[in-house]
Amino acid sequence: AKTETLLEVNNIEVIYNHVILVLKGVSLSVPKGGITALLGGNGAGKTTTLKAISNLLQSERGEVTKGSIHYRGDLVQDLSPEALVKRGVVQVMEGRHCFEHLTVEENLLTGAYTRTDGKTAQALEMVYEYFPRLKTRRKSQAGYTSGGEQQMVALGRALMSKPETILLDEPSMGLAPQLVEEIFGIVKSLNENEGVSFLLAEQNTNVALRFAHYGYILESGRVVMDGKASELRENPDVKEFYLGMS
Ligand code: ATP
Repeated sequence: AKTETLLEVNNIEVIYNHVILVLKGVSLSVPKGGITALLGGNGAGKTTTLKAISNLLQSERGEVTKGSIHYRGDLVQDLSPEALVKRGVVQVMEGRHCFEHLTVEENLLTGAYTRTDGKTAQALEMVYEYFPRLKTRRKSQAGYTSGGEQQMVALGRALMSKPETILLDEPSMGLAPQLVEEIFGIVKSLNENEGVSFLLAEQNTNVALRFAHYGYILESGRVVMDGKASELRENPDVKEFYLGMS
């Protein structure tokens, strides 16, 4: 059977402050049911790509000046982030971004604000099933939870909108290896059991290519390589430059 394409980014260019060209023609696609990794070093343009998709560049004085972004065949690049959430696409920003003064549970509930089906309670139960730690900590002020728990809150909050696709920015950042494994394990089971598709920006190539199905490698605002994760893992250049072994 042919896999359905959800997100289609075609040759986008992004310019910051009218002069700084950061994305120089990036194309990628995210199939339904997959985990797609967007890899590359610091400053390669991963975050910019995700923000271009979810239309979050404006506040950073950035704009898409060329190319197109389609979701399920519809042009979405002028939609507000909220409108995109209603279509099933939600971004989890780098650095977690919890409301520090709200409790864990209040944070999660803010993720359901676009829902109109009255199924918030079920969604919360589902999040607690995947993140039992958050259930234990549900009355705690989010600002006092650990980095790993805050990453779980950010992902859990995204889940509360019942997304079809999650754009996940650098989930491993600042976390100990064991927690990185735990978070990626949860991403994998959400993908397999709930059918959530992921576009995952990661500097940690090693872990990302173990969990993703397909990967794109960005360098200085261009895709320099893409392929099945299993193939990228065996590629000599990827091994040398991204996996730290040759
Ligand atoms: P990181 O892992 O550090 O987030 P990244 O691959 O996600 O790296 P981006 O954050 O997309 O990279 O940044 C790509 C380039 O765009 C970098 O050179 C960065 O300095 C530049 N850049 C990012 N945001 C802005 C901005 N608001 N104004 C000007 N330049 C920016």
